[in-house]
Amino acid sequence: MPPRLSLAPQISSDYQNFSTHLECSVTGRSDYEIGKVQGLSHIGMPLLVRYDLAAMKKQLNKEDIWARPGGFWKWREFFPEISNENICSLGEDDTPLIACNVIAKEMGITGDLLVKDESRLPTGSFKARGLGLACAMAKELGITRVAMPTNGNAGSALAAYANRAGLESFIFCPNDAPPTMAKEMSLLGGNVWRVNGMINDCGRIVAEGVEEAGWFDVSTQKEPYRIEGKKTMGLELAAQLGWDAPDAIIYSTGGGMGLVGMWKAFQELSALGWIGDKMPKMIAVQSEGCAPIVKAYDEGADKAEFWPDAFTHAAGIRVPFALGGHLILKAIKESGGFAVTATEEEIIDARLELAQKDAIHVCPEGASTLVAYRHAIETGLLQKSDRTVLFNCGNGLKYPMPEVTASLDQLKPIDYSIF
Ligand SMILES: *Cc1c(COP(=O)(O)O)cnc(C)c1O
Repeated sequence: MPPRLSLAPQISSDYQNFSTHLECSVTGRSDYEIGKVQGLSHIGMPLLVRYDLAAMKKQLNKEDIWARPGGFWKWREFFPEISNENICSLGEDDTPLIACNVIAKEMGITGDLLVKDESRLPTGSFKARGLGLACAMAKELGITRVAMPTNGNAGSALAAYANRAGLESFIFCPNDAPPTMAKEMSLLGGNVWRVNGMINDCGRIVAEGVEEAGWFDVSTQKEPYRIEGKKTMGLELAAQLGWDAPDAIIYSTGGGMGLVGMWKAFQELSALGWIGDKMPKMIAVQSEGCAPIVKAYDEGADKAEFWPDAFTHAAGIRVPFALGGHLILKAIKESGGFAVTATEEEIIDARLELAQKDAIHVCPEGASTLVAYRHAIETGLLQKSDRTVLFNCGNGLKYPMPEVTASLDQLKPIDYSIF
């Protein structure tokens, strides 16, 4: 008999754990036990999860995993061990790849210009991937109170997944973070405070509260599992392209964990022999008003410095300091990618262009990737025959949109010749 209710599909409970340990992303020190609460390494740097890739190669079938339902939760073998009861799903699905037909034709593109639209995830951004996993792991490790500084989307995802996992969340956002997002966090059960400072000021409040208020700090890269969730963007993308890498991935970079996570995904897929020889060029784009990674890239530095007076209306990339800057720069360099800026005006224009020409509503951060793409085609950094994927990480409805100025007085005769 068919089921009466059509519920979100169950997450596969039939899986094996292949995670082995955590490793310091700078020194490579590897005696960090998995299955225990871990923050930063001994030298205060992010930790990365490592797996027994040789065993995975022998025992796993990529098509079996890809055939599972459950969006990013299908990649459980690429995560640390999480008991079935601690999976906190909100009905995730894989996000679509949408072709920019009109823009590509106008630019004479012979390859593919694709947008991976992450706005379809719960709370409308890719932050769902990282915080879904971080909350499941926090639950697994017996943590009950989590805290985070945010410019918006991460806070919304934390509020939702912490609630779903039965955790208390404490969220701190700058006064000028998009108001819709602060309201969303609160609506979803987060304890939200607005702060008269920037995201790094909010970060300091959270860091001090670890001792004072007994919080677990889930800030970007201060715990090791968000990146494993973000990694699924790369796993999913490779599977969608028929187990192949695109020539280039353009990513609007704030804390940079999405870019670093995807690069980790492609390295793991390559080690497993699940994709061919090609690896994607990882390209970071930042706003001219907050570009610490681009500056470090241009100077050939291996880590990024604090960017004073950061400004951009693309809130998700208004991150003046990235703790994992060395990892972002390493991924760009190893992959043969590059880092560029976009101006505020270029971002606004590109958002309008994607919406009006190809009917794709991206957030400002997402729009910045088109600016970087056009720059790369014009300067020859990318070829017209390349397959390029632009990441739209969030839902444009949460950001300001152009006003509608036309109005009609229905009490007077309508002049139909104006239409
Ligand atoms: C958080 C965010 C980013 C930046 O992502 P990182 O992986 O932290 O660099 C980009 N776009 C949107 C919409 C975001 O919410």
